[in-house]
Amino acid sequence: VDGRTIYGHEEPVRVKVDAAVRRAACPASTGTGSKLPRSQLDRWKAVYEAVAGWYRTDGPDAEVVPEVERAVMGYLDPVQAGICSGLFSSYRQILPKRSDETVDLEPPGSLVYDEARNASVAVATQIGLDGPNGRESIRLKTGKRATTAEEAAVLHAGSDGDTAFFDALLVAGSLEEIESDPTTRDDVVAALLEAGTAPVDARARPEPGPHCFSCPRPARCGQYPVAGGGSVGSTTRTVVITKTALRRFPECHRRVGWRRLYAIPDDQYDEEEEAPHGLSVGAAFHRAAAAALLADDPDAVVADAARALPPSERADLETLWEGHRSLAATEQAPVAVVRTEYGIGATVVVPGLDVDSRDRVRRDAPVAVVFVAFADAVGREADGTPAVVEHRTGADGAGYHLEAEVYALGAALLLRADRVAVHTHHLRDPDGASCLRREFGPADLAAARDALREVAAAVAAWHPDDALAPPYTVGRWCTWCEFAGTCSRFRDGAATSRPPA
Ligand code: SF4
Ligand code: SF4
Repeated sequence: VDGRTIYGHEEPVRVKVDAAVRRAACPASTGTGSKLPRSQLDRWKAVYEAVAGWYRTDGPDAEVVPEVERAVMGYLDPVQAGICSGLFSSYRQILPKRSDETVDLEPPGSLVYDEARNASVAVATQIGLDGPNGRESIRLKTGKRATTAEEAAVLHAGSDGDTAFFDALLVAGSLEEIESDPTTRDDVVAALLEAGTAPVDARARPEPGPHCFSCPRPARCGQYPVAGGGSVGSTTRTVVITKTALRRFPECHRRVGWRRLYAIPDDQYDEEEEAPHGLSVGAAFHRAAAAALLADDPDAVVADAARALPPSERADLETLWEGHRSLAATEQAPVAVVRTEYGIGATVVVPGLDVDSRDRVRRDAPVAVVFVAFADAVGREADGTPAVVEHRTGADGAGYHLEAEVYALGAALLLRADRVAVHTHHLRDPDGASCLRREFGPADLAAARDALREVAAAVAAWHPDDALAPPYTVGRWCTWCEFAGTCSRFRDGAATSRPPA
């Protein structure tokens, strides 16, 4: 008999789908986070308010739309106001008003209650439409992500069975029915309730992975420790900078900010376009090596991966693996690998700009910038020196800006070490695979921290709500920039151009 049975009147635990899925992947993800960027959520709210206002207001769109947009998007910067206006227009095209339907702006969500756990899990919908097809419940989607399989299971398991659910995918401009497999949906919901109600273990070790990018706790969980010690408060503004974003930093700050702070949608690319040969083999190699390096029979794992590739790419993957094998046998300080695809990094707290809950700008507020990179492998050299290994599979073998510094500082902080080696394995070197080993001692680690602090200071100075705040720098890199189209429309006025840092 547990407390919940005795005190049966207790409020049920409310399980959130995203948090439960993340918790199953990383037990340390439960708990208070810090203040991460909110642009995407703000834009979602603006689009929702626009759609609701449009339904509430009778009259021709030519009059109603500008009025509604002024009311709910007026406070946004021009880039984000333009995005919201486009998404609002997309909604009206997908779901034009119809005289034979009634609109419910507060449709009931789907909720599943589990009496044994005294817990519930719910998924909301935003717009209910009752028309000739019966009831349709719409989920408003302003990002790329559609309703997940877990959310779909809850939607159907907790519904009356008479409602059809749809995603209004405003970026793609399409309406997609949300489906879930009736034979597995109860198990999916049970697993969510199980993960969401398991006792919290405060000592649980972080398990980094792709889920770190949707987690509220990167600055607080300890996986990306604070350089210089201390901790990050729950109200501290926080920005996560990936190694890919860091790579762009010397070229153009706008590109970094648009990706990591304001979540500006990319220009649309043709998704059918094939990845160029070399890129796909590189990705396949990274995947195969991550599994092989921890396997009892690494060669068999790679042979399996090679068989799954088209014949034209098989030999290339085998050559890369052969390069790895020859390096492992010949390099001076080989690494005994303990983890692969492992998230390493450091949090740097700098004074910067923040906006409080009453929209007042605070200068010199603490801002936590979390540098996160996923290393191909981590382990130790024979003498115990912690080591991080990065596989380069591209022909140019170019490194990312400050990548080794993030690895070295992150590993040193995580292991409380004052010496770390970073190995970059150039597997496509025409003269045979080679290793560039950089050893970071105390002075190098201090220099790495200073270099990251400089980047953090620039990031922290960008106004969190103004996408025009980070300066842009036009250069040859614009050709491949995912924001080139949007950026070119906002190069005058408030934005300024200045030489890169
Ligand atoms: S940031 Fe990553 S490692 Fe840290 S708690 Fe979240 S998911 Fe786990
Ligand atoms: S198009 Fe060029 S200037 Fe604009 S964000 Fe991209 S890299 Fe920067």
